[in-house]
Amino acid sequence: MAAAEADARGGEAGARSPALPVPRHAPEARVARPSRRTAGRRRGGTPPADTLTPECAGKRETAVSAWCVPCLVSLDTLQEYCRKEKLTCKSIGITKRNLNNYEVEYLCDYKVLKDMEYYLVKWKGWPDSTNTWEPLQNLKCPLLLQQFSNDRHNYLSQVKKDNNKALKPAVAEYIVKKAKQRIALQRWQDELNRRKNHKGMIFVENTVDLEGPPSDFFYINEYKPAPGISLVNEATFGCSCTDCYFEKCCPAEAGVLLAYNKNQQIRIPPGTPIYECNSRCRCGPDCPNRIVQKGTQYSLCIFRTSNGCGWGVKTLMKIKKMSFVMEYVGEVITSEEAERRGQLYDNKGITYLFDLDYESDEFTVDAARYGNVSHFVNHSCDPNLQVFNVFIDNLDTRLPRIALFSTRTINAGEELTFDYQMKGSGDVSSDSIDHSPAKKRIRTVCKCGAVTCRGYLN
Ligand SMILES: [Zn+2]
Ligand SMILES: [Zn+2]
Ligand SMILES: [Zn+2]
Ligand SMILES: [Zn+2]
Repeated sequence: MAAAEADARGGEAGARSPALPVPRHAPEARVARPSRRTAGRRRGGTPPADTLTPECAGKRETAVSAWCVPCLVSLDTLQEYCRKEKLTCKSIGITKRNLNNYEVEYLCDYKVLKDMEYYLVKWKGWPDSTNTWEPLQNLKCPLLLQQFSNDRHNYLSQVKKDNNKALKPAVAEYIVKKAKQRIALQRWQDELNRRKNHKGMIFVENTVDLEGPPSDFFYINEYKPAPGISLVNEATFGCSCTDCYFEKCCPAEAGVLLAYNKNQQIRIPPGTPIYECNSRCRCGPDCPNRIVQKGTQYSLCIFRTSNGCGWGVKTLMKIKKMSFVMEYVGEVITSEEAERRGQLYDNKGITYLFDLDYESDEFTVDAARYGNVSHFVNHSCDPNLQVFNVFIDNLDTRLPRIALFSTRTINAGEELTFDYQMKGSGDVSSDSIDHSPAKKRIRTVCKCGAVTCRGYLN
C-alpha cells in the first residue's frame, strides 16, 4: 500500500559521514517515463506526442501554474549549489537535517566480507559518487533494510536463485531502480496532494513493475480552456431560497428537478443535467444542492494494474451508491482541434478525449496532458461510475462540467471505472461510436474483464 511505503521513505539517520562529495552529473532522481494507457477511448483519439519533456522533472514541483518550464540543471548540481550556500530546499532533498548530517536515502548493494555484512549506501542529498559501504550494525534504517530485502526477494523469485555472499549486478541494479522509483512516486504523490484542492487524499502505488510517474502529465483542478475559449465563471442567475431543498431553486429555474436527495445521492436518471447552486445564490455551503462543486471527498489511489491496463484508480474508502466521486477535467478545446488531435492520437489506440455533446458538439475535453485523477481511471464495459453533465457557475449549455457518480456501492480497495463510450446522455447505442470507415481506426481490445464486455473500446 502507498501508505506503508510512505512511512518507509523518509530518509533515515545513517551511520557516518561519507567522504566529501564531488559534484558531478548523476542519474535522474525520478524514473520518468511516459504513461501508457493500454486501452481506452472516450469517443476519440489518444494522448499527444511529448512536446515538452522536462530534463529535470523533479524541480517542476516549484512551478505553481499548469504551464511548466523545464529545468535544465541536474538534481545533483542543484543540491551542490544548496550545500555550497548552506541553503535548505525540501523539494530537492536538502533539509536542515541532512545539510550537516547524513541520512540514508536508500541501499544499493550488499556484500559479506570476513563474516561482516555490508550495505552500499546512497546518501540523501549527495550524488552517487559519494556512496559508501557501511557495516550492518551501523545502519539504523530498519524500513529501508526491509525494502531492500523485499525488493531482492521479489527479483530473485522471478529469476534463478542467487548465492547469499554478494549480490549479482542485475539484482543490485533492480534494487536501486526500485528505490529510485519509490522516491519518484512519493515525490509525485506529494506534488499531486499539494496541487489538488479537494478534501480526499491522493495516493500512488506501484507494486507491479518499474513504471514511474508519467513525465508529461500536469495536475489541474478545473477545466483549462484553450486560447480563444472563454469559460464564463459567473452565473447570471442565483436563487434566493431559505431552503433550497423544498423551494423553487436553481434546477427549477432551468426546468429540471433537484438532482440530489437528502443523503447527497443523485436521484435523477442519467442524461438529465445537474444544476447546482452557484456564487449568486443566497444559500450557504451547506445547501443540499452543492455537491460537485465541493470536489472529491474520498481518498483515492492511483495504482499500477496487474492486468496490463497501465495505471488505474481505486478507492481507499467505501463509496455509497449514487454518490459524487470525481470530476473529469482537462483542456477544453474545440471539436476541430479534437479532430486534429484525434488523428494524431489514434495510432496509439488510446484516448483521453471526451466530447461535450450535451447539447452541441462544439467542445471537447482533452485530459491527455492536463487532468486530475480521472485521467487514470480505466474503462470498463460494466463500470461502477456514471457520467453526468453539471452546470454551476457556467450556465452555457455548450460547456457542461463532467461529473462521475457511483452506480452502486463501491468497497474500499475496488478499482473505479467508467464507460468511455458513454455520453452524458447515458446512450451507448452505436451512433455514439464513430465507426466511420473512411478513417480506418485501429481497434483497441478491451481488457475490462466484465461478463458484458463489448470486446473493443472503439
Ligand atoms: Zn435555492
Ligand atoms: Zn441556488
Ligand atoms: Zn442552494
Ligand atoms: Zn470491456
